[in-house]
Amino acid sequence: MATLRVEIDSNSGFCFGVVYAIEMAEEILDEQGHLYCLGDIVHNDEEVSRLEAKGLRIINHADLAGLHGEKVLIRAHGEPPSTYKLALDNDLELIDASCPVVLKLQNRIRNSFEKGQDLFILGKPGHAEVEGLLGQTDQKARVFQDVGELDLATLPRKLTLYSQTTKSTDRFYNTLEAMKSAGIEVDANDTICRQVSNRDVELRTFATQFDVVVFVSGKKSSNGRVLFEVCRSVNPQTYFVTNAAEVLPEWFLGATSVGICGATSTPMWLMEDVKGQIESFG
Ligand code: SF4
Repeated sequence: MATLRVEIDSNSGFCFGVVYAIEMAEEILDEQGHLYCLGDIVHNDEEVSRLEAKGLRIINHADLAGLHGEKVLIRAHGEPPSTYKLALDNDLELIDASCPVVLKLQNRIRNSFEKGQDLFILGKPGHAEVEGLLGQTDQKARVFQDVGELDLATLPRKLTLYSQTTKSTDRFYNTLEAMKSAGIEVDANDTICRQVSNRDVELRTFATQFDVVVFVSGKKSSNGRVLFEVCRSVNPQTYFVTNAAEVLPEWFLGATSVGICGATSTPMWLMEDVKGQIESFG
């Protein structure tokens, strides 16, 4: 194999929301040796395993209902008001690592709901962040993933549109255009996180600079799926891996340069691992 130049994208890796949640968790783990976390702290199995080895215990909402008198971390995605109420009832101490960007979005949605607006959220039904947003509206907002799911002719003639923070800006603005073209008056709120949308732009540039791109992400990361597709749209030689063991040497035959990048939930150490693996093929 020809000598390969392998480079990690300096803009990839954890966003500030995830950094904040993991720092909070590690601080408490160092102090007390264990900590409950409601849902995966980050959509990356490798990073979750690393933290579990330090004493992190991932629980779900059913587990939370049976837990009393413990500290429980709320991850960056945030939670609906019902979780805070349950914590009070069960004498739980919540360590709230909800991302400030998500908290602001929750507040805006709650304000819109209290004003009686018809709310539509571009987001993935069932996603933890979306559950937190829906909880601000007594489950009344309509969540959809694609404008094609909506029968535009029967929608209210005036509505308020929000987005889950990790959706693509293209999809948001296409949705807005389709609604406007159908004669709907839309109060549009582009609430896509700039840590995601800026990365979108940066990744397009990064991915075109290499013969092959290896995108590192957990399979459960919505943001990872979006950003992987961004890379593949500009460089068809883009491969998705969750860890170094999944990298195959035949991807690099005839290539002279490889770019490694990842989602806002991909730890830098994992991208370094992948880099080491690719260099070992040389
Ligand atoms: S992607 Fe943005 S909104 Fe989501 S956790 Fe990171 S900083 Fe917060």
